[in-house]
Amino acid sequence: MSVVTRFAPAPTGRLHVGNIRTAVHNWLWARKHGGRFLLRLDDTDRERSREEYAAGISEDLAWLGLAPDEEHRQSARFGRYEMALARLREAGRAYPAYETAQELELKRKVQLGRGMPPVYDRAALDLTDGDRARLEAEGRRPHWRFRLDHDAPIKWNDLIRGLQHFDPALLSDPVVRREDGSWLYMLPSCVDDIELGVTHVVRGEDHVTNTALQIQMFEALGAPPPAFAHEALLVGSEGKLSKRLGSLGVDAMREAGIEPAALVAKLARIGTSLPVEPVISAAPLIESFDFATFGRAPARFDLDELAGLSAKIVHQLPFDAVAERLPAGMGPADWLAVRPNLRKVGEAGDWWTILHGHVETKAAEEDRPVVAAAVEAARGIDWAAEPWRQLVAAVKERTGASGKSLFLPLRRALTGRDSGPEMAALLPLIGRDEAVARLEAAL
Ligand code: GLU
Repeated sequence: MSVVTRFAPAPTGRLHVGNIRTAVHNWLWARKHGGRFLLRLDDTDRERSREEYAAGISEDLAWLGLAPDEEHRQSARFGRYEMALARLREAGRAYPAYETAQELELKRKVQLGRGMPPVYDRAALDLTDGDRARLEAEGRRPHWRFRLDHDAPIKWNDLIRGLQHFDPALLSDPVVRREDGSWLYMLPSCVDDIELGVTHVVRGEDHVTNTALQIQMFEALGAPPPAFAHEALLVGSEGKLSKRLGSLGVDAMREAGIEPAALVAKLARIGTSLPVEPVISAAPLIESFDFATFGRAPARFDLDELAGLSAKIVHQLPFDAVAERLPAGMGPADWLAVRPNLRKVGEAGDWWTILHGHVETKAAEEDRPVVAAAVEAARGIDWAAEPWRQLVAAVKERTGASGKSLFLPLRRALTGRDSGPEMAALLPLIGRDEAVARLEAAL
Protein backbone atom coordinates (compact mmCIF):
# COMPACT_ATOMS: atom_id res chain seq x y z
CA MET A 1 0.00 0.00 0.00
CA SER A 2 1.49 3.27 -1.04
CA VAL A 3 1.46 6.01 1.58
CA VAL A 4 -0.78 9.03 1.01
CA THR A 5 -0.78 11.93 3.47
CA ARG A 6 -2.54 15.24 3.34
CA PHE A 7 -2.16 18.71 4.73
CA ALA A 8 -5.60 20.27 5.15
CA PRO A 9 -5.49 23.96 6.06
CA ALA A 10 -8.51 26.22 5.83
CA PRO A 11 -7.66 29.14 3.51
CA THR A 12 -8.83 31.65 6.11
CA GLY A 13 -5.40 33.08 6.91
CA ARG A 14 -1.69 32.66 6.21
CA LEU A 15 0.16 29.57 7.39
CA HIS A 16 1.86 29.82 10.77
CA VAL A 17 4.42 27.68 12.55
CA GLY A 18 1.78 25.48 14.15
CA ASN A 19 0.12 24.33 10.97
CA ILE A 20 3.26 24.37 8.87
CA ARG A 21 4.74 21.85 11.31
CA THR A 22 1.91 19.47 10.46
CA ALA A 23 2.64 20.03 6.77
CA VAL A 24 6.32 19.23 7.32
CA HIS A 25 5.50 15.97 9.09
CA ASN A 26 2.99 14.88 6.47
CA TRP A 27 5.49 15.68 3.74
CA LEU A 28 8.35 13.85 5.47
CA TRP A 29 6.26 10.75 6.05
CA ALA A 30 5.12 10.63 2.42
CA ARG A 31 8.66 11.22 1.13
CA LYS A 32 10.10 8.58 3.43
CA HIS A 33 7.76 5.99 1.96
CA GLY A 34 7.89 7.14 -1.64
CA GLY A 35 4.24 8.11 -1.30
CA ARG A 36 2.16 11.15 -2.15
CA PHE A 37 1.60 14.34 -0.20
CA LEU A 38 -1.71 16.09 -0.90
CA LEU A 39 -2.79 19.62 -0.23
CA ARG A 40 -6.47 19.80 0.62
CA LEU A 41 -7.96 23.23 1.05
CA ASP A 42 -10.71 23.02 3.67
CA ASP A 43 -12.71 25.86 2.19
CA THR A 44 -16.22 24.84 3.19
CA ASP A 45 -16.59 28.16 4.98
CA ARG A 46 -17.35 30.31 1.95
CA GLU A 47 -17.45 33.52 3.96
CA ARG A 48 -14.04 33.25 5.55
CA SER A 49 -12.15 31.40 2.81
CA ARG A 50 -10.28 33.68 0.43
CA GLU A 51 -8.44 33.15 -2.80
CA GLU A 52 -5.52 35.27 -1.61
CA TYR A 53 -5.02 32.92 1.35
CA ALA A 54 -5.21 29.86 -0.90
CA ALA A 55 -2.50 31.44 -3.06
CA GLY A 56 -0.50 32.32 0.07
CA ILE A 57 -0.60 28.70 1.26
CA SER A 58 0.76 27.42 -2.06
CA GLU A 59 3.41 30.11 -2.04
CA ASP A 60 4.51 29.27 1.49
CA LEU A 61 4.64 25.54 0.76
CA ALA A 62 6.69 26.17 -2.39
CA TRP A 63 9.08 28.44 -0.46
CA LEU A 64 9.57 25.68 2.11
CA GLY A 65 10.16 23.08 -0.61
CA LEU A 66 7.02 21.15 0.37
CA ALA A 67 5.29 21.24 -2.99
CA PRO A 68 2.22 18.98 -2.94
CA ASP A 69 1.80 16.14 -5.41
CA GLU A 70 -1.91 16.91 -5.77
CA GLU A 71 -4.21 19.70 -4.77
CA HIS A 72 -7.90 19.44 -3.86
CA ARG A 73 -10.54 21.84 -2.67
CA GLN A 74 -13.50 20.93 -0.57
CA SER A 75 -15.59 23.60 -2.28
CA ALA A 76 -15.34 21.54 -5.48
CA ARG A 77 -16.60 18.42 -3.74
CA PHE A 78 -19.91 19.41 -2.16
CA GLY A 79 -21.74 16.86 -4.33
CA ARG A 80 -19.64 14.06 -2.82
CA TYR A 81 -20.59 15.12 0.71
CA GLU A 82 -24.24 15.29 -0.31
CA MET A 83 -24.03 11.67 -1.50
CA ALA A 84 -22.27 10.50 1.64
CA LEU A 85 -24.89 12.15 3.85
CA ALA A 86 -27.66 10.49 1.83
CA ARG A 87 -25.98 7.11 2.36
CA LEU A 88 -25.63 7.68 6.09
CA ARG A 89 -29.24 8.74 6.25
CA GLU A 90 -30.41 5.60 4.47
CA ALA A 91 -28.35 3.50 6.85
CA GLY A 92 -29.92 5.27 9.84
CA ARG A 93 -26.62 6.94 10.72
CA ALA A 94 -27.64 10.53 10.06
CA TYR A 95 -30.72 12.39 11.26
CA PRO A 96 -32.23 15.83 11.06
CA ALA A 97 -32.46 17.94 14.22
CA TYR A 98 -34.22 21.24 14.67
CA GLU A 99 -33.03 22.78 17.91
CA THR A 100 -31.83 26.34 17.71
CA ALA A 101 -28.43 27.32 19.08
CA GLN A 102 -30.17 28.88 22.11
CA GLU A 103 -32.16 25.73 22.81
CA LEU A 104 -29.02 23.64 22.66
CA GLU A 105 -27.20 26.05 24.93
CA LEU A 106 -30.01 25.84 27.46
CA LYS A 107 -29.89 22.02 27.42
CA ARG A 108 -26.16 22.15 28.05
CA LYS A 109 -26.58 24.51 30.98
CA VAL A 110 -29.21 22.29 32.57
CA GLN A 111 -27.00 19.21 32.15
CA LEU A 112 -23.97 20.95 33.59
CA GLY A 113 -26.10 22.26 36.45
CA ARG A 114 -27.01 18.67 37.29
CA GLY A 115 -23.40 17.59 37.12
CA MET A 116 -23.95 15.68 33.88
CA PRO A 117 -21.70 15.77 30.82
CA PRO A 118 -23.15 18.15 28.21
CA VAL A 119 -23.88 15.43 25.67
CA TYR A 120 -26.64 15.99 23.12
CA ASP A 121 -29.75 14.14 24.37
CA ARG A 122 -30.84 12.92 20.92
CA ALA A 123 -34.30 14.44 21.35
CA ALA A 124 -34.49 14.78 17.56
CA LEU A 125 -34.46 10.98 17.19
CA ASP A 126 -37.88 10.90 18.87
CA LEU A 127 -39.50 13.27 16.42
CA THR A 128 -42.28 11.80 14.33
CA ASP A 129 -42.89 12.65 10.69
CA GLY A 130 -45.71 14.85 11.93
CA ASP A 131 -43.42 16.71 14.35
CA ARG A 132 -40.95 17.37 11.59
CA ALA A 133 -43.63 18.56 9.22
CA ARG A 134 -44.92 20.94 11.87
CA LEU A 135 -41.44 22.31 12.65
CA GLU A 136 -40.76 22.84 8.97
CA ALA A 137 -44.13 24.53 8.54
CA GLU A 138 -43.02 26.91 11.32
CA GLY A 139 -40.09 27.79 9.08
CA ARG A 140 -37.45 25.73 10.85
CA ARG A 141 -34.79 24.09 8.73
CA PRO A 142 -32.97 21.01 10.02
CA HIS A 143 -29.30 20.64 10.72
CA TRP A 144 -27.91 17.11 10.36
CA ARG A 145 -26.23 14.97 12.95
CA PHE A 146 -24.23 11.79 12.58
CA ARG A 147 -25.60 9.10 14.88
CA LEU A 148 -22.82 7.48 16.86
CA ASP A 149 -23.07 3.77 17.54
CA HIS A 150 -23.05 3.61 21.33
CA ASP A 151 -22.43 -0.13 21.32
CA ALA A 152 -19.14 0.09 19.48
CA PRO A 153 -16.32 1.32 21.73
CA ILE A 154 -13.91 3.47 19.76
CA LYS A 155 -10.28 2.40 19.74
CA TRP A 156 -7.25 3.09 17.67
CA ASN A 157 -3.55 2.72 18.00
CA ASP A 158 -2.25 6.23 17.55
CA LEU A 159 1.23 6.34 16.01
CA ILE A 160 2.26 8.95 18.59
CA ARG A 161 -0.14 8.58 21.53
CA GLY A 162 -0.45 4.80 21.58
CA LEU A 163 -3.71 3.01 22.28
CA GLN A 164 -6.69 5.40 22.49
CA HIS A 165 -10.15 4.56 23.86
CA PHE A 166 -13.33 6.58 23.70
CA ASP A 167 -16.78 5.70 24.98
CA PRO A 168 -19.15 6.91 22.25
CA ALA A 169 -21.97 7.34 24.78
CA LEU A 170 -20.01 10.22 26.29
CA LEU A 171 -19.82 12.07 22.97
CA SER A 172 -22.51 14.15 21.28
CA ASP A 173 -23.67 13.05 17.87
CA PRO A 174 -21.70 15.54 15.79
CA VAL A 175 -23.47 18.07 13.59
CA VAL A 176 -22.24 17.51 10.04
CA ARG A 177 -24.38 20.00 8.14
CA ARG A 178 -25.88 23.29 9.22
CA GLU A 179 -29.41 24.61 8.69
CA ASP A 180 -28.24 26.73 5.78
CA GLY A 181 -26.85 23.65 4.00
CA SER A 182 -23.19 24.50 4.69
CA TRP A 183 -20.84 21.73 5.77
CA LEU A 184 -18.95 21.41 9.01
CA TYR A 185 -15.45 20.00 8.86
CA MET A 186 -16.16 16.52 10.21
CA LEU A 187 -17.89 14.59 7.43
CA PRO A 188 -16.23 16.23 4.40
CA SER A 189 -12.84 15.41 5.87
CA CYS A 190 -13.77 11.71 6.17
CA VAL A 191 -15.25 11.56 2.69
CA ASP A 192 -12.12 13.14 1.23
CA ASP A 193 -9.77 10.92 3.17
CA ILE A 194 -11.62 7.88 1.84
CA GLU A 195 -11.93 9.04 -1.77
CA LEU A 196 -8.41 10.45 -2.03
CA GLY A 197 -6.95 7.24 -0.61
CA VAL A 198 -5.35 8.87 2.44
CA THR A 199 -3.48 6.24 4.44
CA HIS A 200 -2.12 8.40 7.28
CA VAL A 201 -3.77 11.36 8.98
CA VAL A 202 -1.14 13.39 10.80
CA ARG A 203 -2.48 16.37 12.73
CA GLY A 204 -2.49 18.19 16.04
CA GLU A 205 -3.78 16.59 19.21
CA ASP A 206 -6.61 19.12 19.29
CA HIS A 207 -8.22 16.72 16.79
CA VAL A 208 -8.14 13.60 18.97
CA THR A 209 -11.85 13.72 19.82
CA ASN A 210 -12.70 14.43 16.19
CA THR A 211 -10.79 11.28 15.30
CA ALA A 212 -12.94 9.22 17.65
CA LEU A 213 -16.05 10.53 15.88
CA GLN A 214 -14.54 10.18 12.45
CA ILE A 215 -13.50 6.57 13.03
CA GLN A 216 -17.19 5.72 13.33
CA MET A 217 -17.90 7.74 10.19
CA PHE A 218 -15.29 5.85 8.21
CA GLU A 219 -16.85 2.61 9.35
CA ALA A 220 -20.39 3.80 8.61
CA LEU A 221 -19.24 4.72 5.11
CA GLY A 222 -17.79 1.24 4.67
CA ALA A 223 -14.13 2.27 4.65
CA PRO A 224 -11.32 1.17 6.93
CA PRO A 225 -10.05 4.19 8.87
CA PRO A 226 -6.57 5.43 7.99
CA ALA A 227 -3.75 5.37 10.54
CA PHE A 228 -3.65 8.40 12.85
CA ALA A 229 -0.81 10.33 14.43
CA HIS A 230 -1.71 13.21 16.74
CA GLU A 231 1.16 15.42 17.64
CA ALA A 232 1.51 17.49 20.81
CA LEU A 233 0.95 21.17 20.24
CA LEU A 234 3.63 23.79 20.01
CA VAL A 235 3.98 26.36 22.73
CA GLY A 236 5.92 29.61 22.80
CA SER A 237 9.19 29.95 24.64
CA GLU A 238 7.42 31.40 27.67
CA GLY A 239 5.80 28.00 28.18
CA LYS A 240 2.16 28.75 27.63
CA LEU A 241 0.28 28.77 24.38
CA SER A 242 1.41 31.93 22.81
CA LYS A 243 -0.74 34.21 20.76
CA ARG A 244 2.30 35.60 19.09
CA LEU A 245 3.37 32.11 18.10
CA GLY A 246 -0.04 31.26 16.75
CA SER A 247 0.06 34.29 14.55
CA LEU A 248 3.68 33.94 13.56
CA GLY A 249 3.16 33.67 9.85
CA VAL A 250 5.48 31.87 7.49
CA ASP A 251 5.40 35.01 5.34
CA ALA A 252 6.62 37.10 8.28
CA MET A 253 9.49 34.70 8.89
CA ARG A 254 10.47 34.83 5.28
CA GLU A 255 10.51 38.63 5.44
CA ALA A 256 12.59 38.43 8.61
CA GLY A 257 15.24 36.55 6.63
CA ILE A 258 14.71 33.09 8.13
CA GLU A 259 15.90 30.38 5.73
CA PRO A 260 13.22 27.89 4.66
CA ALA A 261 15.63 25.02 5.36
CA ALA A 262 15.92 26.26 8.96
CA LEU A 263 12.20 26.22 9.47
CA VAL A 264 11.92 22.72 7.98
CA ALA A 265 14.87 21.43 10.03
CA LYS A 266 13.43 22.91 13.21
CA LEU A 267 9.84 21.81 12.71
CA ALA A 268 10.85 18.32 11.59
CA ARG A 269 12.58 17.60 14.89
CA ILE A 270 11.07 19.89 17.52
CA GLY A 271 9.23 17.84 20.14
CA THR A 272 11.02 14.65 19.11
CA SER A 273 13.91 12.84 20.77
CA LEU A 274 16.12 13.64 17.76
CA PRO A 275 18.37 16.71 17.88
CA VAL A 276 17.53 19.85 15.90
CA GLU A 277 20.43 20.20 13.46
CA PRO A 278 21.29 22.83 10.84
CA VAL A 279 20.87 20.65 7.76
CA ILE A 280 20.51 22.31 4.38
CA SER A 281 19.05 19.25 2.70
CA ALA A 282 15.86 17.48 3.77
CA ALA A 283 17.38 14.04 3.07
CA PRO A 284 18.58 13.33 6.63
CA LEU A 285 15.25 14.58 8.00
CA ILE A 286 13.34 12.25 5.70
CA GLU A 287 15.52 9.31 6.51
CA SER A 288 15.31 9.71 10.29
CA PHE A 289 11.63 10.66 10.47
CA ASP A 290 9.81 8.33 12.86
CA PHE A 291 6.63 8.88 14.89
CA ALA A 292 8.16 6.75 17.66
CA THR A 293 10.56 9.63 18.39
CA PHE A 294 7.70 12.09 19.08
CA GLY A 295 7.15 13.13 22.68
CA ARG A 296 3.75 13.63 24.31
CA ALA A 297 4.60 16.94 25.99
CA PRO A 298 3.99 20.23 24.18
CA ALA A 299 7.03 21.26 22.17
CA ARG A 300 8.61 24.61 22.97
CA PHE A 301 9.25 26.82 19.99
CA ASP A 302 11.72 29.66 20.35
CA LEU A 303 12.17 32.26 17.64
CA ASP A 304 15.69 33.18 18.72
CA GLU A 305 16.74 29.55 18.45
CA LEU A 306 15.24 29.45 14.99
CA ALA A 307 17.21 32.55 14.00
CA GLY A 308 20.40 30.91 15.30
CA LEU A 309 19.69 27.75 13.35
CA SER A 310 19.00 29.81 10.27
CA ALA A 311 22.38 31.57 10.58
CA LYS A 312 24.12 28.18 10.74
CA ILE A 313 22.31 27.22 7.58
CA VAL A 314 23.33 30.44 5.83
CA HIS A 315 26.98 29.56 6.60
CA GLN A 316 26.61 26.38 4.57
CA LEU A 317 24.57 27.57 1.61
CA PRO A 318 26.35 27.25 -1.72
CA PHE A 319 26.47 30.23 -4.07
CA ASP A 320 23.92 28.68 -6.46
CA ALA A 321 21.34 28.44 -3.67
CA VAL A 322 21.51 32.17 -2.98
CA ALA A 323 22.68 33.74 -6.26
CA GLU A 324 19.36 35.27 -7.13
CA ARG A 325 19.05 36.90 -3.72
CA LEU A 326 22.50 38.56 -3.90
CA PRO A 327 23.34 42.01 -5.23
CA ALA A 328 23.96 41.97 -8.99
CA GLY A 329 27.58 41.25 -9.74
CA MET A 330 28.33 39.43 -6.50
CA GLY A 331 30.20 36.26 -7.45
CA PRO A 332 30.93 32.92 -5.81
CA ALA A 333 34.21 34.10 -4.23
CA ASP A 334 32.49 37.16 -2.72
CA TRP A 335 29.78 34.93 -1.30
CA LEU A 336 32.21 32.43 0.22
CA ALA A 337 34.21 35.27 1.79
CA VAL A 338 31.28 36.95 3.52
CA ARG A 339 29.05 33.93 4.21
CA PRO A 340 30.57 33.00 7.61
CA ASN A 341 29.67 36.43 8.98
CA LEU A 342 26.07 36.57 7.97
CA ARG A 343 23.01 35.73 9.98
CA LYS A 344 20.82 36.36 6.97
CA VAL A 345 21.47 36.17 3.25
CA GLY A 346 20.08 39.71 2.95
CA GLU A 347 23.05 41.05 4.93
CA ALA A 348 25.37 40.08 2.07
CA GLY A 349 24.50 43.42 0.47
CA ASP A 350 26.24 45.31 3.31
CA TRP A 351 29.43 43.40 2.75
CA TRP A 352 29.09 43.80 -0.97
CA THR A 353 29.19 47.57 -0.42
CA ILE A 354 32.19 47.14 1.84
CA LEU A 355 33.99 45.06 -0.77
CA HIS A 356 33.18 47.09 -3.83
CA GLY A 357 31.57 50.34 -2.74
CA HIS A 358 32.96 53.50 -1.24
CA VAL A 359 34.72 53.06 2.09
CA GLU A 360 36.51 55.97 3.68
CA THR A 361 37.83 56.09 7.22
CA LYS A 362 40.27 58.21 9.17
CA ALA A 363 42.86 56.28 11.14
CA ALA A 364 43.24 57.21 14.80
CA GLU A 365 46.52 58.92 15.67
CA GLU A 366 48.04 55.82 17.25
CA ASP A 367 47.08 53.67 14.26
CA ARG A 368 48.69 55.89 11.65
CA PRO A 369 52.13 54.24 11.66
CA VAL A 370 50.59 50.85 10.91
CA VAL A 371 48.39 52.26 8.14
CA ALA A 372 51.30 54.24 6.67
CA ALA A 373 53.45 51.12 6.61
CA ALA A 374 50.60 49.25 4.96
CA VAL A 375 50.39 51.79 2.13
CA GLU A 376 54.02 51.14 1.32
CA ALA A 377 53.73 47.39 1.72
CA ALA A 378 50.56 47.12 -0.35
CA ARG A 379 52.37 48.51 -3.38
CA GLY A 380 55.16 45.97 -3.11
CA ILE A 381 53.44 42.66 -2.42
CA ASP A 382 52.36 40.04 -4.94
CA TRP A 383 48.57 40.39 -5.06
CA ALA A 384 48.12 37.06 -6.77
CA ALA A 385 49.31 35.05 -3.74
CA GLU A 386 47.76 35.47 -0.30
CA PRO A 387 48.10 39.29 -0.15
CA TRP A 388 46.80 39.56 3.42
CA ARG A 389 49.48 37.27 4.79
CA GLN A 390 52.16 39.22 2.96
CA LEU A 391 50.74 42.59 3.97
CA VAL A 392 50.60 41.68 7.65
CA ALA A 393 54.12 40.25 7.59
CA ALA A 394 55.51 43.36 5.91
CA VAL A 395 53.76 45.81 8.25
CA LYS A 396 54.84 43.82 11.27
CA GLU A 397 58.42 43.90 10.10
CA ARG A 398 58.34 47.64 9.48
CA THR A 399 56.49 48.73 12.62
CA GLY A 400 56.98 45.94 15.15
CA ALA A 401 53.21 45.98 15.75
CA SER A 402 51.52 42.68 16.41
CA GLY A 403 48.22 41.15 17.46
CA LYS A 404 45.25 43.45 17.75
CA SER A 405 47.27 46.65 17.33
CA LEU A 406 48.39 45.31 13.97
CA PHE A 407 45.17 43.77 12.66
CA LEU A 408 42.56 46.23 13.88
CA PRO A 409 43.94 49.41 12.26
CA LEU A 410 44.27 47.53 8.98
CA ARG A 411 40.78 46.08 9.15
CA ARG A 412 39.32 49.49 9.99
CA ALA A 413 41.16 51.29 7.21
CA LEU A 414 40.29 48.64 4.63
CA THR A 415 36.65 47.90 5.56
CA GLY A 416 35.50 50.70 7.83
CA ARG A 417 34.46 48.07 10.39
CA ASP A 418 35.93 46.62 13.55
CA SER A 419 34.89 43.09 12.76
CA GLY A 420 33.74 40.97 9.86
CA PRO A 421 34.75 38.12 7.63
CA GLU A 422 38.35 36.93 7.46
CA MET A 423 40.55 39.65 6.02
CA ALA A 424 42.45 36.94 4.14
CA ALA A 425 39.27 36.31 2.17
CA LEU A 426 38.24 39.97 1.83
CA LEU A 427 41.47 41.58 0.74
CA PRO A 428 41.88 39.82 -2.63
CA LEU A 429 38.28 40.77 -3.41
CA ILE A 430 38.85 44.43 -2.53
CA GLY A 431 41.86 44.29 -4.85
CA ARG A 432 45.14 46.16 -4.99
CA ASP A 433 44.12 49.57 -6.31
CA GLU A 434 41.11 49.95 -4.06
CA ALA A 435 43.04 48.70 -1.02
CA VAL A 436 45.84 51.20 -1.62
CA ALA A 437 43.31 54.00 -2.14
CA ARG A 438 41.51 53.15 1.12
CA LEU A 439 44.72 52.97 3.11
CA GLU A 440 45.89 56.30 1.70
CA ALA A 441 42.54 57.91 2.40
CA ALA A 442 42.74 56.78 6.02
CA LEU A 443 45.94 58.71 6.62
N1 GLU B 1 -8.89 21.98 8.36
C1 GLU B 1 -8.61 21.21 9.53
C2 GLU B 1 -7.68 22.01 10.42
O1 GLU B 1 -6.92 22.83 9.91
C3 GLU B 1 -7.95 19.92 9.11
C4 GLU B 1 -7.73 18.96 10.20
C5 GLU B 1 -7.29 17.63 9.63
O2 GLU B 1 -6.10 17.50 9.36
O3 GLU B 1 -8.14 16.76 9.45
O4 GLU B 1 -7.71 21.86 11.62
